[in-house]
Amino acid sequence: MHGKTVAIIGGGPAGLMAADVLSAAGLAVTVYEAMPTVARKFLMAGKSGLNITHAEGYDDFVTRFGTAQSRLQSALDDFTPDMLRDWALSLGQETFTGTSGRVFPVAMKASPLLRAWLSRLDAQGVDIKTRHRWAGFEGDALLFQTPSGEVIAKHDTSLLALGGASWPKLGSNAAWVPWLRQKGIAINDFQPANCGFDVEWSDHFRDRFAGAPVKSIVTTSQAGRFEGEFVITRHGIEGSLVYAHSAALRDVFRQTDNPALIVDLAPGRTQERLTHDLERHPRKDSLSNRLRKAAGLAPVKVALLRECRPDLSAMPPADMAALMKALPMTVTSPRPIAEAISSAGGIDWDEIDQRYMLKSMPGIFVAGEMLDWEAPTGGYLLTACFATGKSAARGIMHALGVSG
Ligand SMILES: Cc1cc2nc3c(=O)[nH]c(=O)nc-3n(C[C@H](O)[C@H](O)[C@H](O)COP(=O)(O)OP(=O)(O)OC[C@H]3O[C@@H](n4cnc5c(N)ncnc54)[C@H](O)[C@@H]3O)c2cc1C
Repeated sequence: MHGKTVAIIGGGPAGLMAADVLSAAGLAVTVYEAMPTVARKFLMAGKSGLNITHAEGYDDFVTRFGTAQSRLQSALDDFTPDMLRDWALSLGQETFTGTSGRVFPVAMKASPLLRAWLSRLDAQGVDIKTRHRWAGFEGDALLFQTPSGEVIAKHDTSLLALGGASWPKLGSNAAWVPWLRQKGIAINDFQPANCGFDVEWSDHFRDRFAGAPVKSIVTTSQAGRFEGEFVITRHGIEGSLVYAHSAALRDVFRQTDNPALIVDLAPGRTQERLTHDLERHPRKDSLSNRLRKAAGLAPVKVALLRECRPDLSAMPPADMAALMKALPMTVTSPRPIAEAISSAGGIDWDEIDQRYMLKSMPGIFVAGEMLDWEAPTGGYLLTACFATGKSAARGIMHALGVSG
C-alpha cells in the first residue's frame, strides 16, 4: 500500500473499473454507492444478454461515438474491445460474437461477471460502502448521507462516476448536476439517448397492436438506413431499430417539430413488383386481403399502413406500393429520459484534462456516462464506461505519483 487514499463515488461499470486498476496498483480505495448494492444498471443490462462490446473493425468502432470520438479515442485505445474481452476472461467470463457483431458473455448475463469482479476487488482490499449517498462538498471533504446520519470523508483524490440520467430508479439520478454547476463546471443538459418515441396511435390500433413486433423492415432517417424490427407500444415505438435513429430524430425536434421515420415494410420486393402484384390481385377482395395476400404483408404491417394513411383504400396500386416502400411515420416526441437506455449530455469535455481531471477542481476526476458523449446500443456504452474508468484511474495514479 502507498498510504494514499482514493474515493470513488458511484459503483457502476466506470467506478468499479477504476477501483480495479487503482487497487491493483496498491492504492487504498473506498467505493461509495448510494444504493443498497452496486452496479444495478449493469445488472439490468445483463437482462437483455449484456452486450458488452462490439467486434467490428476498430476503425469503425471508434466512429460510433460521433462528435465525442476525438475526446474518447485515447481511453478507447487503452481499453480496446479485444482488451475488454480479455479482461472479462480474467474474471472467468468467456465471450462470443453474435451474428450482428455484438459481443456477449457466454453466460448472457451480468451477475457471474459482477460476482467474480467484486470478489477480486475485495481481495485487492477495496472497501465498498453502500447506502452512502454523496451530497456534495464540505470544504475540501466529501459529504455523504447514510442511514445513520451524515458522514464526512477526506481522501487524497476522488473520482466521480455517478452515471447519466436514464433509469434513475437504478441509482443514477443526476442529482449531482447542481452541485457541480455551483462550482462553475459546465454541464450540458441531459437528454434521452437510445430511446423510444411517441406516435399518436388511434385507440383501435393501440388496443389491437400494442406489444406487436413489426419484423423485417428497413427504416431511414437522417441517421441513415437500418434493417431490423421495432415494437409497437401503447405510446409509440420502441426497440433497437428505433434507438439507432433516436439521436437524429431527437435533434430534429430541437430544430423543427415532428420528424418522420421512413419505413420500408417490404424490403424484399421492389416497388414495381409490389405494384404488379397488387394489380394482378382481384379488386373485389378486401383491401386488407389484397395487402396481405398480394403484397405479402403481415397483419400488423397492413394495420400500420392503414393507421398512417387512412386514405389508402382510395389509392391506385402504384401509390400503395410507393407507400409500402417509404411509409412516413410521424413521431411526436422522444419518450422520457427515465425510460431511455442511456443519456446524452453531461460534463462538458472542455472541463477536463487529458487525464480525466476537472481542470478547475484539481484532485477530482470524472468518468463514465456522466461525461458528455453518446453512442448507439451495440456494446459501445459499456466499453466507453470501462475505458474512461480505466483512463481516469491512470490519471489518478499519475497525480499521486504512483506507477502502474
Ligand atoms: C435497460 C438497460 C440496458 C442496457 N444494456 C446495455 C448493453 O447491453 N450494453 C451496453 O453497452 N450498455 C447498456 N446499457 C447502458 C449501460 O448500462 C450504462 O451506459 C452504464 O451502466 C453506465 O455506467 P456508469 O458507471 O457511467 O454509470 P452507472 O452504471 O449509472 O453507475 C453509476 C452509479 O453511481 C451511483 N450514484 C449515483 N448518484 C450517486 C450519489 N449521489 N452518491 C453515491 N452513488 C451515486 C448509482 O447508484 C450507480 O450505481 C443499458 C442500460 C439500461 C438502462
